[in-house]
Amino acid sequence: MFDCFLSTSISGRAVKGGLIGVKLVNLRNFGRGNYRQLDDYAFGSGGMVFAAPQLKDALASIMPDGVKPFVVYPSPQGVRLTQEVIESLALQDRVAIICGHYEGLDERFTEKYVDLEVSAGDFVLTGGELPAMMIIDAMSRLVPGVVGKGRAVIEDSFYRGLLDNPNYTRPSEWEGERVPEVLLSGNAGEVTRWRRKSAIARTLTRRPDLISRASIREYLTEGVNLAVIVEDDSVNLSGLLELCRAYDLGRPYVIAHSHELRESLKKSCPEAKILAGLRDLCGAGVLTVKVYAGAVKNSVHSLEVKRRCLTHEGKILLLFSQNVADLEGLDGLSGYLYAEGIDLPLNVKIGIALDKFLGKR
Ligand code: SAM
Repeated sequence: MFDCFLSTSISGRAVKGGLIGVKLVNLRNFGRGNYRQLDDYAFGSGGMVFAAPQLKDALASIMPDGVKPFVVYPSPQGVRLTQEVIESLALQDRVAIICGHYEGLDERFTEKYVDLEVSAGDFVLTGGELPAMMIIDAMSRLVPGVVGKGRAVIEDSFYRGLLDNPNYTRPSEWEGERVPEVLLSGNAGEVTRWRRKSAIARTLTRRPDLISRASIREYLTEGVNLAVIVEDDSVNLSGLLELCRAYDLGRPYVIAHSHELRESLKKSCPEAKILAGLRDLCGAGVLTVKVYAGAVKNSVHSLEVKRRCLTHEGKILLLFSQNVADLEGLDGLSGYLYAEGIDLPLNVKIGIALDKFLGKR
């Protein structure tokens, strides 16, 4: 099964080019007795189970230096195989994948030597070879040079957490169906916008569950700004600028005012004026998201904030205030984080919020 997989197509070229190294270990070589026995009857159920001593010998054979690789056992009882699992595995120096058969492995071996059980899905296969190939294939795509065009990998489904956009090729008209006009326009900006929008629409209709673990910043094509209302000059400006750089935000708007000024202007509701001014700066169609540390009346969960930002057509303005009361009475979407009750510096709270809404997956 592996010979064909490791010698053809993209995986074959990756092996041949030395971009990935795969060593196959035949468990049969570690069988015991005249029949090179590997498995035995399961106590209690009678099915066949791979025996622990033989599995241990096979594992030892790939540890000449005594250093254990990260051991993965594909099993229907494992955690679901996702892009996150693959990306974590790709950070290991060496990964050993043990392909089960029959009833699987002796549980004592699994407990002692297996670092991760992964499931290819909620169905049962006859052996672990196909999931092992899936793991090798998905890991190898993350190795630079394996997939020809570097860009392709990050544009694929799941890399940023959302699904990919639909794709079309020539002919531009087929059986009366035309390719979306924008793709033929040659306008790169419009094409990117269309691709992002259709990826969002696909994900929201087919896999809304993905939104919680998606990095959405790249999909907010109209831009995101930060506005911070603070008393006096208590905000760490250089930290704020760093945060803006890290999350690819525009320049932050910092509104600093003294306690006395706040008290004297309270009656005329200066914050509403501030917001109106900010909206002018951001342009028409901006979605203002007021961010609170904990749930307040009429606020929405951070996941819902992500969904609404993704479906909004214009700019996003994330509004923070040191004094939460400032935000009351201002219109716009109110979103909350579960960081209530912890007295953290404003910059840290902003960092938590940015990571929750926009952070890398
Ligand atoms: N008795 C096991 C159970 O019910 O959980 C099923 C064993 S299955 C018939 C034999 C082997 O196929 C497993 O040890 C595992 O390596 C592999 N396998 C089967 N289904 C799988 C899945 N969904 N994901 C990963 N590996 C799977």
